Amino acid sequence: MRARLHRPDPRGRFGEYGGRFAPETLMTALEELEVEFASAWADPLFVGEYHRLLELYVGRPTPLYPAHRLSERLGVEVWLKREDLAHTGAHKINNALGQGLLAHRMGKPRIIAETGAGQHGVATATAAAVLGLECQVYMGEVDIRRQAPNVSRMQILGADVIGVASGAGTLKDAVSEAMRDWARTVEETQYVIGSVVGPHPFPWMVRELQKVIGDEVLRQSEQLPDVAVACVGGGSNAIGMFWPLAGTGVELVGVEAGGEGIGTGRHGASIGAGSPGILHGARTYMLQDDDGQVLEAHSISAGLDYPGVGPEHSYFQEVGLARYVSVTDREALDGVRLLALTEGIIPALESAHAVAWVAREASSLRHKTVLINLSGRGDKDMEMLVERL
Ligand SMILES: *Cc1c(COP(=O)(O)O)cnc(C)c1O
Repeated sequence: MRARLHRPDPRGRFGEYGGRFAPETLMTALEELEVEFASAWADPLFVGEYHRLLELYVGRPTPLYPAHRLSERLGVEVWLKREDLAHTGAHKINNALGQGLLAHRMGKPRIIAETGAGQHGVATATAAAVLGLECQVYMGEVDIRRQAPNVSRMQILGADVIGVASGAGTLKDAVSEAMRDWARTVEETQYVIGSVVGPHPFPWMVRELQKVIGDEVLRQSEQLPDVAVACVGGGSNAIGMFWPLAGTGVELVGVEAGGEGIGTGRHGASIGAGSPGILHGARTYMLQDDDGQVLEAHSISAGLDYPGVGPEHSYFQEVGLARYVSVTDREALDGVRLLALTEGIIPALESAHAVAWVAREASSLRHKTVLINLSGRGDKDMEMLVERL
């Protein structure tokens, strides 16, 4: 098994994955961003300000909670990393604040973002408000309809939400629009990407900003778990927990969206059922047809409805640092109910995928300690939950 990489190689690659496949107009901006982030991340003043905000504003460290009743029910010792308790209800704020601070440091008054579930849009709008930045958020029309409460939240926070009607009207289309905007406005704009995806340096930078999750786990645990589980959309909550644990002997399991079942073709399992290609500026596992056309992803959870995965996960999979499995929409819904009834916690549908995998595999996990990254809370999914449960 090869080791985790502290930084991708000079071309931005994790092994064969990652890189910088972007239009010429963005190359200078990406190079500048890499230099600026590297210098900020080595500057104790910047890192200190970031950690001060995480503590006083986000409410970190989030608890590491022993889920006794769930453990009893499953016959597996389960701990939850409570990212659902972070300000705005998910891990995404860790990244949005870090990139907002970076925009501020680079003297850029405007940030833009793409959003699927709306969670990254809310996190970015929140960061913009608290840091005094202008903010525009691109969101697919379909997602605008299925995540209406988050659209209102962004607007109340002072962000402009711009609907994207092209393609399937979901996350992938919003990413493309945001990239186009950035290419036009890079002088005054930072593009706050929402996961460990996109061209170098984004996958590395977002991982650095999310690895606070796993760093806290190392400080909070008296004994490391046997297994750590996280859902994987683009993969930011997962890599944030996995990276500090990689190589410690903890088995790392990423749970992708099985949607209506892998066999139906309606799913979001980019590693499990995809192949390497180039998506949104990086080489990585993605869903594509025989001609290399990107396929639509499907998941009950908008946050996992993305046809690719961060390149570092492709690397983790290839070198055996983590393994990737999938859970269907139906199993995820059952996961929501299970956690609600045993622990009084309504998880985000995304996070419920990780819970559901542990429930499904309980017999093979018996006598093990399992850590679940509870990436977010379910408030945003209430409409879907009322309809489906
Ligand atoms: C956005 C989101 C995800 C998926 O994004 P990753 O980058 O894979 O973490 C997972 N859980 C929640 C709660 C989200 O909002």
